[in-house]
Amino acid sequence: MRNIKQVVIVGGGTAGWMTAAALSKVVGALVKVVVIESDQIGTVGVGEATIPSIRLFNNLLGLDENEFLSKTKGTIKLGIEFNHWGKEGDAYMHAFGNLGLDLGMVKFYQYWLKRKLSGDESSLWDYSFNTQAAKINNFQPTEHIEGTPLSGLTYAFHFDAGLYAAYLREFSQAKSVCRIEGKIERVIQDDRGYISSVVLENEQQIEGDLFIDCSGFNGLLIEQTLKAGYDDWRHYLPCDSAIAMACQSSEEVLPYTKATAHGAGWQWRIPLQHRIGNGHVFCSDYMSQDVAEQILVRNVDGKPLTEPKLIKFTTGMRKKAWVKNCVAIGLSGGFMEPLESTGIHLIQSGISRLLTLFPDQEFSTQDIDEFNKQTEFEFTSIRDFLILHYKATQRADTEFWRMSQAMPVPDSLAERIELFKTHGRIFRNNDELFTDVGWVQVFIGQGVMPNKYHPIADSISDDQVEKFLADLKQIYAREAGKLLKHSDYLARLSV
Ligand SMILES: Cc1cc2nc3c(=O)[nH]c(=O)nc-3n(C[C@H](O)[C@H](O)[C@H](O)COP(=O)(O)OP(=O)(O)OC[C@H]3O[C@@H](n4cnc5c(N)ncnc54)[C@H](O)[C@@H]3O)c2cc1C
Repeated sequence: MRNIKQVVIVGGGTAGWMTAAALSKVVGALVKVVVIESDQIGTVGVGEATIPSIRLFNNLLGLDENEFLSKTKGTIKLGIEFNHWGKEGDAYMHAFGNLGLDLGMVKFYQYWLKRKLSGDESSLWDYSFNTQAAKINNFQPTEHIEGTPLSGLTYAFHFDAGLYAAYLREFSQAKSVCRIEGKIERVIQDDRGYISSVVLENEQQIEGDLFIDCSGFNGLLIEQTLKAGYDDWRHYLPCDSAIAMACQSSEEVLPYTKATAHGAGWQWRIPLQHRIGNGHVFCSDYMSQDVAEQILVRNVDGKPLTEPKLIKFTTGMRKKAWVKNCVAIGLSGGFMEPLESTGIHLIQSGISRLLTLFPDQEFSTQDIDEFNKQTEFEFTSIRDFLILHYKATQRADTEFWRMSQAMPVPDSLAERIELFKTHGRIFRNNDELFTDVGWVQVFIGQGVMPNKYHPIADSISDDQVEKFLADLKQIYAREAGKLLKHSDYLARLSV
């Protein structure tokens, strides 16, 4: 077997340095890793909210969590609070972690649904430990709730993207990753069309066996050179612009992201230790850049620290993320707007797929096809979840929301919505990212209420269900109150 000897990573944004760090850790003894980045071009500079899988990635690298939080000015994320999505004035949380306790084969939320349909007023989120802690700004690592079978808090992070890339760069360089600064001017292909080298402005030529395209939206290798093609999903996810701006922190550091809907999109609020990251994602067919900027500036919680910066994008994915000897990871492979903070997760899962299917110099077609098939499955299942947030709105106050309500959705999503509406059933296909706990929160949070509950929930008497729910509610509220304040938890890390 002829092994890969040199991997060239094009791009030093979050994708480039996450890939370099993971490859140097896992296959560093086998291959030489080179990263090329250009200060002249810079990085996209956003991407600061994550989902819990980031902890697996950091663990794979062996990063110390406290050091990571200090170096990246990170904070804890227990979920996302969605404001004004179902109706103006509404608020719900997509919290990480479990909801209550499943009994036998019946999911917990079915018991809640049973009570709800018979007039009980308790909120689904009374049974989310993460939500109860988030509401009072508390956090402390908790594996499980003592003396009960209930699991503890499930968390992710908010962090400064630039500091995270710098941290991983330091990590990678200590593992002998070679960094080259310079702008790539030309890409050289061999007679089979495989990339053999890239040439910088200063004519330096860098050869490689495997090229990872982490060059951002333009897809320097995967698209501009190898013409992989792009599936444009703007008919499902029509937002195509974002204005990003940081501001000063003005209050207690919240342990969750906020996603607040506006007239033609929504605004993110990501609290870090030293500032708040804000951005307004909007659809340029329904709102001008000037109006979007005014709305953002009016709705930030502190003094602006940066000028508003416009970022344009096309939601969708590369038709093939792996072509010949080139694999696209990060924005070069596709982008589905940041509503559920899935960009960094997709980088991580791309890296994990690459490692699982790590090639030799023959580049087996079967491996490449498998990589592309798995990537497509992951993107499309996340896409459906994101579309649900727009489709399941009852807002009719602007043209954008009326369009969102009326828009055709993929059959895969239409079937899920119908299935949920009858008996509240949700099925997770294969290893798709979002579980029934995520789907049910968005369904219920946006006002999609099933007509009936799971019939097997009747095997427990009404009285028993009522007591079961009341006990859980009490435990979650009590235990959340015992945790440290999030800001005190962060302060302890730096001493
Ligand atoms: C508005 C917005 C908000 C987002 N929010 C989130 C979020 O909250 N959570 C999340 O998980 N994800 C989020 N994302 C996604 C996240 O930002 C990206 O997944 C992440 O930053 C990875 O970007 P990247 O490294 O692929 O590209 P970039 O950051 O664009 O990096 C590209 C790199 O390639 C280099 N390069 C390009 N061309 C050349 C060349 N010719 N020669 C040499 N070098 C070159 C550049 O210098 C740079 O180093 C968001 C994205 C957007 C657009």
